[in-house]
Amino acid sequence: MVNKYNALILNLVSVLFLFLSIIQLSIGQGATPTADVDNSIDQCGTVFFEKKQAQAMGYFGTRQYFESWVDTKGVEMKQNAQGNRTLANEKRRLPVVVHVIHHGEAIGVGANISEAQILDQIRILNEDFQMQNPDFAANTPSEFLDVAANAGIEFVLAKQDPQGMSSSGINRVLGPKETYGLNDAALIGQLASWDPEEYINIWVLPLTPPTIGFAGFPVSNELEGLNNPSPTPETDGVTIDYNYFGSIGTAVQNSRGRTATHEMGHFFGLRHIWGDGGCEVDDYVTDTPLQSQSNNTCIVTPRFTCDSRDMVENFMDYTPDRCMSLFTEGQVERMDVILNFSPRRASLPTSRALFEPQLFDSDIELLEIVSPSVYICDYSFTPIIEVVNKGKDPVNKVRASIKANGLELETKDFDVSIAPGETLELEFDVVTLNAESTVFTAEVLLVNGFEDDDTSNNRRSVTTALPVSQTLPYAYPGHVEASGWEYINGDQGFTWTPVNLQLDNARQEAFLLNGFDYNGQGELDYLVSPVFDLSGIPNPQLSFDLAYSPFSNSAFTETLIVAVSTDCGNTFNLLTAPYNKSGATLATLGGSLNEFFPSSEQQFRKELVNLSAYAGQDNVRIAFVSINGYGNNIYLKNIAINTEETYRYQLGINEVTQPLPVVNGDQILDKLSIDNTGNLPVSSFYVSNSINGLVNESSLFNAITLDANASTSVDLANGFDPGLNEVVYQVSSPNFDQNFGAGDELTSYFIQDDSKILVPWRQDFDSGLGDWISINPENDFSSWQLNPSSGGNSSNQMVLDDMVSNNSYWLVSPEFSLAETGRAGLFFDWGGTGFSSGSQTSFSLIVSKDGGQTGQSLWEMSGEALNKDIDASDDPTLGTFVNLNDFAREEKVRLYFKVNNLNDSDALLFLDNISLYLSDDPDPVVPELNQSLVYPNPAIDNFHISFNLENYQDVKIEFFSLAGQKAYDVSFPNTLNQTYTFGKMHLGTGLFVVKITGENFMLTKKLVVY
Ligand SMILES: [Zn+2]
Repeated sequence: MVNKYNALILNLVSVLFLFLSIIQLSIGQGATPTADVDNSIDQCGTVFFEKKQAQAMGYFGTRQYFESWVDTKGVEMKQNAQGNRTLANEKRRLPVVVHVIHHGEAIGVGANISEAQILDQIRILNEDFQMQNPDFAANTPSEFLDVAANAGIEFVLAKQDPQGMSSSGINRVLGPKETYGLNDAALIGQLASWDPEEYINIWVLPLTPPTIGFAGFPVSNELEGLNNPSPTPETDGVTIDYNYFGSIGTAVQNSRGRTATHEMGHFFGLRHIWGDGGCEVDDYVTDTPLQSQSNNTCIVTPRFTCDSRDMVENFMDYTPDRCMSLFTEGQVERMDVILNFSPRRASLPTSRALFEPQLFDSDIELLEIVSPSVYICDYSFTPIIEVVNKGKDPVNKVRASIKANGLELETKDFDVSIAPGETLELEFDVVTLNAESTVFTAEVLLVNGFEDDDTSNNRRSVTTALPVSQTLPYAYPGHVEASGWEYINGDQGFTWTPVNLQLDNARQEAFLLNGFDYNGQGELDYLVSPVFDLSGIPNPQLSFDLAYSPFSNSAFTETLIVAVSTDCGNTFNLLTAPYNKSGATLATLGGSLNEFFPSSEQQFRKELVNLSAYAGQDNVRIAFVSINGYGNNIYLKNIAINTEETYRYQLGINEVTQPLPVVNGDQILDKLSIDNTGNLPVSSFYVSNSINGLVNESSLFNAITLDANASTSVDLANGFDPGLNEVVYQVSSPNFDQNFGAGDELTSYFIQDDSKILVPWRQDFDSGLGDWISINPENDFSSWQLNPSSGGNSSNQMVLDDMVSNNSYWLVSPEFSLAETGRAGLFFDWGGTGFSSGSQTSFSLIVSKDGGQTGQSLWEMSGEALNKDIDASDDPTLGTFVNLNDFAREEKVRLYFKVNNLNDSDALLFLDNISLYLSDDPDPVVPELNQSLVYPNPAIDNFHISFNLENYQDVKIEFFSLAGQKAYDVSFPNTLNQTYTFGKMHLGTGLFVVKITGENFMLTKKLVVY
């Protein structure tokens, strides 16, 4: 028996492996793999399956166990003359079916590869396994010639299909996906799998890079007691990417079809030649040298590792196809053991699929009773059977009969025309059953008027019943039999069971799937509802409460699928099921090594399945399908079918609160405000930000409590590029809900720009915008515009018009440093017109001191107060003043003028003459433009010299006594509108002449200091 606690030790190794292989997979993305490049990535997925096998089978899946079995059998075989075959003379023929899994392409196009390409691959396999490949002589070094061996295997495309009909050995199947990964093996097997006792299944399809192939590793023949020998029969075979299959058609330029040779080697038990480890790890073959690692390039100079020459030419290395050439005698002996003893290998050489089917002259087979199935939706129905002409003769008359519980219902003669190999459905007259359960039997009696040559395939029967119906709205009443719930328990092991739970001092009915004790991984158990009539109900909803605490080891994980049948329960499509959760998405609380018994409502989560896709169907049944993982228990309760969308998980992104729309590159976080707009509490959801089309961060937020109508804030790493950034924020899957539309998306625009400006500064826009930035974060529409003023006033202004509802418009200064000043103040002129009564538009000044990560609103006007004439004056004392002292001593200050428009589409706003002073005086003395002012004069103790220049200038200030002697002088670079203060300590007292010299002006003044 598999023991999941012992397996824990093995799985520590396996988890590490999985982690490594995930890294390898991601490294390979974006690269275009060819068969001839040095891609030291894991192109062969077989080892992945060997590890999965170890997980699933415990000790019986380990190398240690398998290799000791191979050794024992190898010795046994050598002692037994029967096994001592002459390698060169005996050829074993093995039947192959090639399943071409395409995506709707025509034959010969894309993944739907041509027959010629398939035949080319079969030729290559046969040459490689019979030491006849054209590369052998050129590639095989003389020192390896002695050990090179002929495996004596001939691959033959199957000549008959599982039904015994003639076949080309090629099976083309339309698949649901563009590409398939290593975790899709079960899906691939479900799409197409012929009995692996009789066929080698080869699947050819698009694989997700870097994997180009994988194979099912063989198992020993001592595993009869195990519930699920792995690989499961449906997945046993070889899977190859269609770009590496054969050497022609879609095969990449350097493919010589040896991906299939390599994977087929695994299928017959060969390991990678380097043993998937270093020099201390062997491939369990004595005549292959130890190797430190895989080789990924053709090597001209022999490569030596582990004290011997690497056999890079071996098919089980990762060398490019063109430099491979051999298997060794030791490898062939190993393949012989597998072919003689391993399940699903040993039976292949005697498979009937190697031969054309032996056909009778006259043979109709009853393939299927199409109607009734196991369930009937109505007691009255039309019986239908499907027959196939397996004989050589055409058939034009069939007599068949149907019976219910042994009593004949009808015997009917059908005039038909069925060519050999063709199938046909035959319809009987409508019958009406009256028993709850009926054994329905159909039989072909005569073919062309006589009994046919093979009567063993002429009869089938089905036990059919009409399931219980229930009306809507429906709530599970807590007693199973009378209410029409049924179980499908394929393995007759543990299955769904009604239980009565004690939760928070109240008893509740529930269903339990005992995954904790259920040692049969991969088994499906169905809990099937009664029949519901959804006609006339446009938006039906299934809701139920789920509790699941996973076993603390990801190798033992349950899956729960909610599948829907529209034919009274006869067919449930699991692939298109509207609900499919496992592991972390299924868990409603943390993992545990103990068996899970719920004790509180808190451990349950409401699960929702929108059934609107089945609205209008009148024979609907719901199946809760568990895939057992031998992990832990699943509980379901409060199962209800609601006639409308009673419950809803819904999250909305309210706004991006950080950073501001213009940043300097220092920002590290995006902060989102998220609202729960549904009607259920939410404890987990995903959030992501994509920047200019690339996902930057995608994170799961869990262990949170977000009640309906509540809000929360989440952080994501910022990853903006310089310049304009289009950022798409997404929130999705509240409580792992899988219904459409439970999440939200918000696009926002940002500019990353680190332009700087000297202080003080003045921006009158008469020379354009300079490094100022205008942005509309919601849509990247046009924002603040330069407005060359018409009429008498020749100066420019900024204007904002054509505002769109619920958009914001920002005018942002370059960054500036106030590190050198203890005081700062801002003046600006603004005006507005057209704001309606009741307007909720606001105009504000936001200041950031951290490069745009956060901001603080220092001034705001809103509504009708925005209707005001612009001051339009160069005299800042007439404008609006904002004290910036809170930002003095800060190095990275930026101003954001923000208009948040709700509905004022016809309004206009103006902005002009923005001046930064290194002073907090709201009423400064300002000289005329290009002038300076000395005040007070006469002065007692202190006096000031103010400037108001058009541009930055270096100014020199000199003080002379009346006698003409210089008393003091000083120079100020980058002077614009500063006010410099002087004291008696500079000059003493008396009468002075002040000489002020700029770049384009010079003036003198008399000054008296007492
Ligand atoms: Zn491999």
